[in-house]
Amino acid sequence: MGAERALILSTPEQRRDAIELTRRLGKRAAGIFDRALMHVPLETANAARVEAERIGADCCVTIGGGSTTGLAKAIALVSDLPILAIPTTYAGSEMTPIWGLTEDGIKKTGRDPRVLPKTVIYDPLLTITMTPALSGASGINAIAHCVEALYAEDRNPIISIIAEEGIRALAKSLPIVAREPSNIGARSDALYGAWLGGTSLGAVGMALHHKLCHTLGGTFNLPHAETHTLILPQVVAYNAVAIPEAMARVAAALGTKSAAAGLYDLGVAVGAKMSLRDFGIQASDLDRAADLAVQNPYYNPRPISRERIRVLLDNAYHGRRPEA
Ligand code: NAD
Repeated sequence: MGAERALILSTPEQRRDAIELTRRLGKRAAGIFDRALMHVPLETANAARVEAERIGADCCVTIGGGSTTGLAKAIALVSDLPILAIPTTYAGSEMTPIWGLTEDGIKKTGRDPRVLPKTVIYDPLLTITMTPALSGASGINAIAHCVEALYAEDRNPIISIIAEEGIRALAKSLPIVAREPSNIGARSDALYGAWLGGTSLGAVGMALHHKLCHTLGGTFNLPHAETHTLILPQVVAYNAVAIPEAMARVAAALGTKSAAAGLYDLGVAVGAKMSLRDFGIQASDLDRAADLAVQNPYYNPRPISRERIRVLLDNAYHGRRPEA
């Protein structure tokens, strides 16, 4: 990349990885900012932007999951600094030009080519330290990118092939990762699926599932990957009647009869919590979540109404397994 003054980014939990990276980069490491946080709060983004300017950084190197990559994107959005991303989860952010920022409890996202990492280093060894819970949920987050790519408004045949292959790779590898967390072959397959998931997310638009997860995550500060995992089967069950062909492809890739039930069962198989109430959401929060989810119009293959979204959220709250 020709860069000489890298700002290394991590979460506080991954500071040791950032220090090790700094050691390896030697003189090219100009500093560490280790305060990456879920959903990129604007205050954190601003603090990191100030730090990048203060040390005269000419690139950002991230080591971590989507939150850390997201922080580098927030810097790139205002400075054009190139990003070298080293992902350690399966979120897939490193392959997308999508940024996200949370201000006053509302998460905003946008697309800008400046935030797409210039270089990505995938190393499955770095994913072994993920907890079993994060491994499974993070992988299903990548599956969610693939699933929505299959019924995106601007879907295309090439991305659909990539998306279907991503679901297949992750559905096969995640249960193995759950049983044997240090199985490097399964970790490698899961990271391959994550790469395909990120590629799908970056190439086409998303729909109800991503909108709902952003709303719930930003407003109720829910863990991102875990939210995706429990919401996905409910959204797929909701959309299924409108998109039989996409559902058949999802089911085929999962190796199940029903896409929605198959996704639910995969969540259970990787040990994920499948109901919103497990994350401290109160039944009384669901009305607000439904209001926010229908506030701005967006594409979805099945028309959205507040009443139907409220039912979907109720199913997610109780963690009901979709019938079909
Ligand atoms: P995360 O980055 O928030 O990480 C969760 C926790 O796990 C953190 O404490 C982190 O330090 C730790 N962690 C990460 N990798 C680890 C490892 N290998 N070993 C041990 N601990 C590890 O989680 P995430 O699910 O990767 O990212 C979620 C965020 O990414 C959300 O804010 C979401 O909106 C964003 N995201 C953005 C895009 C995009 O295209 N812009 C795509 C996917 C996700």
